[in-house]
Amino acid sequence: NIPAIATPSRTSGILNRHHLKAKHSLGQNFLIDLNVLREIMDAANLTADDDVIEIGPGIGGLTEQLAQRAHKVIAFEIDSHLIPILHETLSQYHNVKIINQDILKANLPKIIKNDFDSSRKVKIVANLPYYITTPIIVELMKSNARFSSIAVTMQKEVAERVSAKPGSKTFGAISVLIQYLNNVKITNLIPKTAFYPSPKVTSAIVRLTRRHDVKTKVFEDDAFAGFVRGCFAHRRKTFQNNLKSLFGKDARPVIKKVLTQEKVNPMLRPEKLSVETYVKLANAFHQVGL
Ligand code: SAM
Repeated sequence: NIPAIATPSRTSGILNRHHLKAKHSLGQNFLIDLNVLREIMDAANLTADDDVIEIGPGIGGLTEQLAQRAHKVIAFEIDSHLIPILHETLSQYHNVKIINQDILKANLPKIIKNDFDSSRKVKIVANLPYYITTPIIVELMKSNARFSSIAVTMQKEVAERVSAKPGSKTFGAISVLIQYLNNVKITNLIPKTAFYPSPKVTSAIVRLTRRHDVKTKVFEDDAFAGFVRGCFAHRRKTFQNNLKSLFGKDARPVIKKVLTQEKVNPMLRPEKLSVETYVKLANAFHQVGL
């Protein structure tokens, strides 16, 4: 009766036997607390009918629990040194497929189509590497891959920015870009001690689900991202002044006209505007050729 991989004794045993050190550069902090793994899977509402994409299986701690609870798991690991270890630690689970690839380079729509049954829900579940949390979430959003939710760990401060509401200090471009298409919720906080090695910061579990009440779509995703980032470039400036920096001084009359037409107070700071207002304004400026 060997203990679960995500326990302190088993994790240190695996690392020692393979003379492995967790690589900080790849964000390798392994979870060694089974309660936290359960919280992540609960955040995903994971059932035996679901298929899972995992990002960064590490030595397999979360993967093992996913394999026990879900129908099938496909896990992307960038570190080739971990692949033989994963094959060893997960050898008894026949519903797991490990792919040695950078998740940012993976063709997710194709893999989901070929490897998963179209009748099942696909859920993304991961203890994400801190250093690329935002790029991973943004890429997942852009990928058009078929999945119903994302339940992942991230640094608490990043989780707060992603889930911040308008008016709060942490509300920024990333809040708008993610909340435009998703409902976001922090479900749990995770203490540093749940990881080996323990990171310097507290983490959080975040659940993202697609919004079904999106009334207005943006004309183009990348342009929308550029617009929103530009609006938040100088947080202490008014919204109007940010727009002037973004579009240039010559655009002043057009900026004024659009803001009046859309009934937006030009003197507000960028964090005071709602997600819907950003969508509406991005489209309005696009229409007048800016
Ligand atoms: N899932 C394991 C756990 O919970 O104990 C390990 C999580 S650890 C925080 C992050 C993992 O992501 C590491 O195994 C790391 O090598 C891997 N990783 C880092 N960058 C990646 C990328 N671009 N694509 C896929 N995996 C990556």
